[in-house]
Amino acid sequence: MSKISSERKATYYVGLGMIVLGFILFISVFFSMASFMSNPFGEGGFGFSKGPSFINAIIGIILMIVGSIVMNIGARGAAGAGIILDPDKAREDLKPYSEATGGMINDVISNIDVVDKITTPRSEKEVIKIKCRNCGSLNDEDAKYCKSCGKEI
Ligand SMILES: [Zn+2]
Repeated sequence: MSKISSERKATYYVGLGMIVLGFILFISVFFSMASFMSNPFGEGGFGFSKGPSFINAIIGIILMIVGSIVMNIGARGAAGAGIILDPDKAREDLKPYSEATGGMINDVISNIDVVDKITTPRSEKEVIKIKCRNCGSLNDEDAKYCKSCGKEI
């Protein structure tokens, strides 16, 4: 992150501002709803119709989403965010991103491996053995008599 242009910094802060604005808008809807709930017939309470506050919440969410996209462009550059398809610049901008993605893919693969171990039924080699209570030798799970001492299991 040595050569971040001032435009990219500006873009980043514009995106940040949009997220903050969207967040405030979104949160304010909950505050107005809360005051409506606690005091439905009081001053300002009944005046709030559900329509505008709902729209405010939507606008807030959209602002946050757009803001995060704008922030991404500012942080990674237009190429890194997938806006500009300039292979050289994209490679340069995407480097940390693709490394992160590679890490995520590795995580997913190792997770699949773990899930596989959990969900795959026991292989033939791992048949449960039962220890004989008399002599302690291991017998097959379905064995009725100990193969070693002949006692009933
Ligand atoms: Zn035995």
